[in-house]
Amino acid sequence: MQNVIFDWSGTVVDDLPPVVEATNAVLTRYGLEMMDRERFRREFSLPFTAFYERLLPGVEIEELELIFRPAMAASVAPVTVIPGAVAFLEKCVEAGCRMFVLSSAPPEAVEAQAEALGLAGYFEKIYAGVRDKRLRLSGILEEQRLDPEQTVMIGDMRHDVHAAQSAGVRSIAVLTGYEFPEVIAEARPDITVTDLEQLAWLLERWR
Ligand SMILES: [Mg+2]
Repeated sequence: MQNVIFDWSGTVVDDLPPVVEATNAVLTRYGLEMMDRERFRREFSLPFTAFYERLLPGVEIEELELIFRPAMAASVAPVTVIPGAVAFLEKCVEAGCRMFVLSSAPPEAVEAQAEALGLAGYFEKIYAGVRDKRLRLSGILEEQRLDPEQTVMIGDMRHDVHAAQSAGVRSIAVLTGYEFPEVIAEARPDITVTDLEQLAWLLERWR
């Protein structure tokens, strides 16, 4: 494992509070009922274009982003580092891994969070605002000259696992994020860990 591609939301940080808030700003604008954290986790999926097509069929995604992105940027709801994430990132530094972020969240949100939480320095490059990771990951491997055999993608959603599978890299699922364990299991990740702390522990033993 020489290269690690991290999903951001639910894998490195818990950004559900502002994401749920911004989603509710969209839903209420169109007269739909607001969601609490649990219901959002049950209903949300990636790519988010499909999620909104289900809720608001026929509405252009660009129109929804004009509501979502400012609401996300204006939110003061807390974003926190997921326990164990920093220790894992440090392990990767020690092991000489190259690290990247691949996220569907708005780039301005991911970059601001990475700076504010002191995480920006760990990553060679942050690829954010990616609508469909399945269509993007192979291009990143090429652009960064990453050998798929030596690369893993770590994420908290089926979509992350599907992106890894489509690019021919191994997938590691964490259970700290948006999707419930039985949901992410449907995608059949190569490895599932409770959190990055457990993954750091496993890597230590394998070595
Ligand atoms: Mg995620």
